[in-house]
Amino acid sequence: MMEIVVQALLDKAVADARPYAEKGRLATYIPELTKANRRALGVCVVDLDGNHWRAGDFDTTFTIQSVSKVATLLYALETCGIQQVLSRIGAEQTADAFNSIIKLETRNSGKPLNPFINAGAIALIAMLMEAVGEDLLSALLDYLKTLTGNRTLSVDADVLRSERATGDINRALAYYQKGMHTFTADVTAVLDVYFHMCSLEVQVIDLARMAALIASNGRHPATGEHHFSAESARCAKVLMTTCGLYDSSGWFALEVGIPSKSGVGGGILSVVPGQFGIGVVGPSLDDKGNSIAGVELLRRLSRTQGWSLFA
Ligand code: GLN
Repeated sequence: MMEIVVQALLDKAVADARPYAEKGRLATYIPELTKANRRALGVCVVDLDGNHWRAGDFDTTFTIQSVSKVATLLYALETCGIQQVLSRIGAEQTADAFNSIIKLETRNSGKPLNPFINAGAIALIAMLMEAVGEDLLSALLDYLKTLTGNRTLSVDADVLRSERATGDINRALAYYQKGMHTFTADVTAVLDVYFHMCSLEVQVIDLARMAALIASNGRHPATGEHHFSAESARCAKVLMTTCGLYDSSGWFALEVGIPSKSGVGGGILSVVPGQFGIGVVGPSLDDKGNSIAGVELLRRLSRTQGWSLFA
């Protein structure tokens, strides 16, 4: 019975939200991303027992982009502790674009405002590199494979090449922060990890499984193993709620109210605490870089199911 209800709910949400894709645009600043299917829209929901439901173009493969910043954050919280993460990388909204440099100079002496903007994710990776050393990329990849349950996760080599070829703003963010003594790690090595973490190929089920782990405060449904602490999960959910959709985070909290993290590949990872993990893909983006039909799909699910934290 439950099967049929959830499936019908997802099928309807996809059908209702799909027309919104027409109003958006593919990310163009990473040329390789313009090859995506603009009309694609897919969703996967995973419950805390590990059951899953999928609808729409759920078999679309896309690059994880900024959604990987959630895994990097969890890994940093587990490795370095919440105090160090919050003292070196803040927890405040920026109201600026995700790749903006302006507040590094005007507000915070080179310290990024949160781990979900590019400057913050780069600083987080640098902090981890200082702690973990050269094996950081393989450690992060392994962690992401564990969180998604997908041991075959790999990099899209063409997107990686495109990220590197066009990544000068990310280089600027990194060099500025290093110049301001935010970190001491080698910039080239830090960016290499950052570009790899953006270029991983995923499907919505991978995001939904990772989201379900956060929804269950780190506890794996099958093994009972904890992959991160409840405190790390709490921190991730807070930051997703306040900063997860770039400079649309306040609007998204009002309209949807589900802790989420978006990426310019069109993915969104969403957590309904204590209930479900959700993965969405829709490569057509709004002017802030969030999946336009994906956000609409989540808005409809949230409204009909009462999934807003603030309902
Ligand atoms: N690779 C992208 C960048 O660094 C990720 C940004 C995003 O998804 N918002 O610009």
